[in-house]
Amino acid sequence: MILGVIADDFTGATDVASMLVRAGMHTVLVIGVPAAGLPQADAVVIALKSRTVEPAEAVAHSLAALSALQAAGARQIYFKYCSTFDSTAHGNIGPVTDALMAALGSDFTIACPAFPENGRTVFRGHLFVGDALLSDSGMRHHPLTPMNDANLVRVLQAQTSQAVGLLRHDVLDRGPSAALESMSHLRAEGVKIAVADALSNDHLLTLAEACAGLPLITAGSGVALGLPPAYSRRGWFTPHANAAELQVLQGPAAVVSGSCSEATQAQVAHWLAAGRTALRVDPRALHEGRQSPATVLEQATSALAHGPVLIYATATNQSVQEVQQALGVHLAGHLVERALASIAKGLVQAGVRRLVVAGGETSGAVAQALGVQQLRIGAPICPGVPWTQSVLPGSRDTAQLALKSGNFGGLDFFAQALRQAGVDL
Ligand code: ADP
Repeated sequence: MILGVIADDFTGATDVASMLVRAGMHTVLVIGVPAAGLPQADAVVIALKSRTVEPAEAVAHSLAALSALQAAGARQIYFKYCSTFDSTAHGNIGPVTDALMAALGSDFTIACPAFPENGRTVFRGHLFVGDALLSDSGMRHHPLTPMNDANLVRVLQAQTSQAVGLLRHDVLDRGPSAALESMSHLRAEGVKIAVADALSNDHLLTLAEACAGLPLITAGSGVALGLPPAYSRRGWFTPHANAAELQVLQGPAAVVSGSCSEATQAQVAHWLAAGRTALRVDPRALHEGRQSPATVLEQATSALAHGPVLIYATATNQSVQEVQQALGVHLAGHLVERALASIAKGLVQAGVRRLVVAGGETSGAVAQALGVQQLRIGAPICPGVPWTQSVLPGSRDTAQLALKSGNFGGLDFFAQALRQAGVDL
């Protein structure tokens, strides 16, 4: 194994795996840390669900993942977080980075969530989502990790006792040796974690080349794009042309959405406006017993005969806030995640073989409910979201899952994903 990746959520894991596959690395994603050891591949991505848990728990899970990757011989470790730097005031990006650095004996790393193809750029340490600063973007309303500051040096410094500095875009413009020189200056000044600017794929390639020798990289998925060519230049592996090939599957198809991000709200509205079948899950109705996952599943299963069905909890910011005030943030999220996960499991038991899931936490809950342990990564539907394939536990059947991070994908993403998997729409 060349690269071992620790991803803080499921969609983040598929996102980074997709980048590696695109650049020709055979990549396997495993969900959680398997007791039986890791599979062999050029890169193994361990998907955790550690973004919003307590920092101590996130650290413990990340260190367990690190041990497994080290035992399997990983040459470099990559801590993958969201391209919108999703974190709370106390973590978990800072505490997990600190713990991984200590365990690896690393005295310097970078932090770079940039993903320019998806509109996430970092300029002078400030994260932009499209044309807006992170703090002006929809992320300020996120149900679990609202982001109210775009200055990543400040955001990260609040989460770590190690000194945070900045590696600027004008240095990256001058190529990998200038980046390496600047990194050694930062190191000499006592900086342990450098937030790295990146406005383009060229910047990501330069960063990857400059960082390929570090024990640890912390980043969104963008930097991973540049690592396979950097490894290949070092003679560590040869890119494979068929790295993204998956089987063609038959059977019903469905979409499950628990994301309330702006992009997903628009995608759900687009599906509804096209007159396609959809069923809404309502957290208050679930709480008060007026709705149950079993009845939604029953309706969804009978609708499947007529084509793909969408089951969604996706709601407007105002409606999410009202529900959170009434039930509390965690209970509201938990009720929805549990309901959608059990509906998704029921759909797969009813024969669904191509399933799109929207939302990072939601995808984690669905994958856990399905009991899938390993995903092969296929071709991307849009930057950051690949189709994946896995064997269903207790059977020889396989199913394909597209796990979409909330803010990713165009308006027609759901139909586009299903068409790409061979569904007639
Ligand atoms: P994203 O990738 O957009 O951040 P996530 O699935 O990670 O999506 O997070 C969305 C969170 O919001 C989940 O915990 C989900 O259960 C919760 N949620 C979804 N719909 C609602 C709703 N209508 N009211 C309150 N919370 C909701």
